[in-house]
Amino acid sequence: MRVLILGGTTEASALARLLADESRFETTLSLAGRTSAPRAQPVATRVGGFGGIDGQVRYLRDHGIDAVIDATHPYAAQISAHAVAASAEAGVALASLVRAPWQRQEDDRWQEVASTRDAAVLLGDAPRRVFLSLEDLHLFATAPQHHYIARLIEPPQQAGLPTDLVLLRQRGPFDLEAERRLLVDERIEVIVSKNSGGDATYPKIAAARALALPVVMIARPDKPTGHVVTSAEAAVDWLAHVRSPSRRGV
Ligand code: NAP
Repeated sequence: MRVLILGGTTEASALARLLADESRFETTLSLAGRTSAPRAQPVATRVGGFGGIDGQVRYLRDHGIDAVIDATHPYAAQISAHAVAASAEAGVALASLVRAPWQRQEDDRWQEVASTRDAAVLLGDAPRRVFLSLEDLHLFATAPQHHYIARLIEPPQQAGLPTDLVLLRQRGPFDLEAERRLLVDERIEVIVSKNSGGDATYPKIAAARALALPVVMIARPDKPTGHVVTSAEAAVDWLAHVRSPSRRGV
């Protein structure tokens, strides 16, 4: 069975490892190409956009894909919308590996906002020291009164970044004590974060709680899904029930 994983996440890599161990699957992992040195993977990898829905339909047909597993990040909504449309058009089964969001704990000081633009507004007029763990840094140029420390894997691509900005290039997973030290050493007053879920980037949220710091939490976008699974193991179980398009109607 030919399986396409839409990846760029820890879960996608975990699923690729599971499928690589099973000879009944011929697996390709698809990456958007945002990271210049992605981690080595145990399955074939393709890199770059498909060219919208039509491009993805073509890819599924040309490569005889039997099943797609969308394991992209909770905030990557466009690729998921394309996957839902393209799989339907090509008649290919689609499952979506959905990562549970972090849940607010009793001592958390979260302020939830609908978008990154709203987060920039919510920071207020008085200058603050802000830790950003997201990519859309240009959206904070509208609030130049703050001092920003932003952590990214790759240098920012957009023009028009906020003027008072320090960049940290680091890739998770992160450690609670190191996160606590970073927030203290940089005298951070507020964190802006996506609700990514998972363990790799949670330590900053736990460190904020320990230091009683507020977190501006950006809500998840609506992300279209196929059949929802919540773990890499469940995705493998789902594959057992998929009928190959080439065998359908026989
Ligand atoms: P997006 O807005 O949903 O996608 C934009 C376009 O990038 C898509 O239309 C598609 O281009 C291409 N693309 C995205 N993921 C792809 C994949 N796995 N394989 C091939 N093409 C892909 O996505 P994004 O927010 O830019 O995220 C890009 C990648 O980074 C995703 O793979 C995601 O899992 C990962 N990531 C995102 C975040 C985040 O916060 N957004 C965080 C961590 C990791 P075409 O239309 O040309 O096919």
